[in-house]
Amino acid sequence: MVAISKYHPISSILEAYNSGQRLFGENHVQELVSKHDALPTDIEWHFTGHLQRNKVKYIVPFVSLIHSVDSLRLLDEIDRQGGKCGRVIPCLLELHIANEESKYGFLPEELDNLLSSGKLKGYEHVSLRGLMCMATNTDDEEQIEREFGYAKSVFDDLKSRYFADDEGFCELSMGMSDDYSIALRHGSTLIRVGTKIFGNREY
Ligand SMILES: *Cc1c(COP(=O)(O)O)cnc(C)c1O
Repeated sequence: MVAISKYHPISSILEAYNSGQRLFGENHVQELVSKHDALPTDIEWHFTGHLQRNKVKYIVPFVSLIHSVDSLRLLDEIDRQGGKCGRVIPCLLELHIANEESKYGFLPEELDNLLSSGKLKGYEHVSLRGLMCMATNTDDEEQIEREFGYAKSVFDDLKSRYFADDEGFCELSMGMSDDYSIALRHGSTLIRVGTKIFGNREY
């Protein structure tokens, strides 16, 4: 479970840390960098928001997983910056499944095209670890079930065709406070929970 701490103060993160949580996620580069600098070094930081290419360099020195890779150009920049600091950056490809919720992410057929063309395989400083997705923000549980079920089938399909001999490609990041139990039933390996841990965010 990734504790999504965006907009929550250092004190709240420390409270979770003192209860044993070591894996935290943030959506904004500046906020992530300042929290990383202020908090214990054994925290593992994930980035889960929309990432602009010009900000990649600030998080690449320490981030342990980027969930939200949504373009080839972004992946190119992560690879370039990873090279500069001598790291291989674990990344998830963001899959667009929701109706309208997120503008971001690859369509399944786009991922298929990129993978079959070999374009996603040549990176030295990027390690592809799986997929991330967000369901539509709706009370309709059947729709959420359908979307997570679909995401799992896309994951399994891509895994079997392009990553069959790559044990590292194993993560399916899906499920948030309101839908993580549905996501877990559909094979999520990483749930991203904010509100259920920290309460409502104050923007
Ligand atoms: C904010 C956010 C979460 C956490 O949402 P909650 O509903 O507060 O659990 C999870 N994933 C992403 C990508 C987010 O932006």
